[in-house]
Amino acid sequence: MSTANAVQDVQLFIDGQFRPAADGQLRDVIDPATGAVVCRQAWGTVGDVDDAVESAARAFVSPQWSGLTLKQRARLLLRIADAIEEDGAELARLESIDVGKPIIFTQGFDVPQAAEGFRYYAGMVEQIEGAMRQAGTRSFGYTRREPLGVVAAITPFNFPLNLAVNKIAPALAAGNTFVLKPAEQTPLSSLYLADIMSRAGLPAGVFNVVTGDGPTVGARLARHPRVIKLAFTGSTATGKKLIAEAAGTLKKVTAELGGKGANIVFADADLDAVTQWAFQAAFFNTGQFCMSGSRLLVHRSVHDELVSRLTKVIEATSVGDPLDPATMMGPLAHRAQLDRVTGYVALAQAEGATLRAGGNPVDRPGFFHEPTLFTEVTPDMRIAQEEVFGPVLTVTVFDTDEEAVAIANGTPYGLAAGLHTASLTRAHRVAAQLAAGIVWVNTWAMFENSIPFGGYKDSGYGRELGPEGLQEYQQLKSVVVNVE
Ligand code: NAD
Repeated sequence: MSTANAVQDVQLFIDGQFRPAADGQLRDVIDPATGAVVCRQAWGTVGDVDDAVESAARAFVSPQWSGLTLKQRARLLLRIADAIEEDGAELARLESIDVGKPIIFTQGFDVPQAAEGFRYYAGMVEQIEGAMRQAGTRSFGYTRREPLGVVAAITPFNFPLNLAVNKIAPALAAGNTFVLKPAEQTPLSSLYLADIMSRAGLPAGVFNVVTGDGPTVGARLARHPRVIKLAFTGSTATGKKLIAEAAGTLKKVTAELGGKGANIVFADADLDAVTQWAFQAAFFNTGQFCMSGSRLLVHRSVHDELVSRLTKVIEATSVGDPLDPATMMGPLAHRAQLDRVTGYVALAQAEGATLRAGGNPVDRPGFFHEPTLFTEVTPDMRIAQEEVFGPVLTVTVFDTDEEAVAIANGTPYGLAAGLHTASLTRAHRVAAQLAAGIVWVNTWAMFENSIPFGGYKDSGYGRELGPEGLQEYQQLKSVVVNVE
């Protein structure tokens, strides 16, 4: 292990303290750029989850948290945002080591976006409002937006920091308390965030982190009767299991699940711009992006030209050490991800797709794979239907707008979609026809905290970000006053 990658063993964060798992178990955390052990993490038990939930339940009614004025709560979230920036270099380093993300992105996107997430919801705290209703001559009524109580979140390995903050910031802004279970492969940024939040003055118990595996820690959170809301981000298969687990308690669930984004290129699109956007859509975060544009649908008249341009860009892209500031593409985040990608590359070839670029793991330690391009992909192939979650882009030809929309909508998923055209009318018409929670026009993955995102169909339900993201963490009370 090089000095640059040195990280101390990490523990659970419960009731404002770091502590070992109840049975003392530890598991390795692996650096995907080398395959070496970076440190060990405490492996939480059901009892640890119960302790964390009890701590959050106590904090929910404590004067230190529930007694804060809205202004004080907002200021606390702003202090957390500042503290994230002050500790941003270490937070970015940990995220790069843990996930394999290039440091240029963790410093330039993940960490600033985390700070801005807290600022955005801090700005909403004093704007939480209900409505006055004139209910008749005998009474009037008003509504209050109240917190839910103890919220739990389960997050995946690909954006550990940001997908946690998308939930923590609105949940705390609404006045809830929180238990987070990060993915077992990538616990480091969540635990460091706990430390940052605590040092910024968040009272003990308001935010807790229990690391460990899904079937033990995650499932206990889903089943726990005192967890009143579960915010899950992960695969559709796990999401379905969790929803079934949670059903016994009637908790509110939001489910941000998998995707198979279609990126449509019409004949009138600007091909220079499309080449850049299509590349980013498919290969950002080594393709481990729920909203990736992994299916490029291209009008026949521009197909050959676009494929030739994309092939050149892909062949000029090299993978590298995530901590090197020049690296634009890192490894897959863990061994199973690399195996998954090589499996899908073999499957695409067996199905008859044409390999145009890449196609192989990279011969170096760690979990690297070349960015890969397939053409002659038909919509029925498994490579065009199933989520690869890696650096694999498929190209499918279409002739009419109707055909493009039918192919785009022809998978079980409905998370993100994109379209590239010079025609304003076509852009709005097709955007309305696409079955996806977010549609990007002449761009891809332009995120704003004010723009909600979430899934249609098998990509889940509920929304993150925007005012809608705050409402997911509130319940509505009506108060009716007798004026007779
Ligand atoms: P995953 O479903 O394997 O795991 C996600 C989380 O669920 C992890 O913390 C895991 O420990 C936990 N988990 C696993 N089994 C569990 C169980 N039985 N009970 C409770 N918890 C359990 O997903 P992943 O491989 O970490 O992430 C990749 C998936 O996440 C992809 O499908 C991707 O599209 C999706 N994703 C969706 C979004 C979105 O916003 N829609 C964002 C990022 C990733």
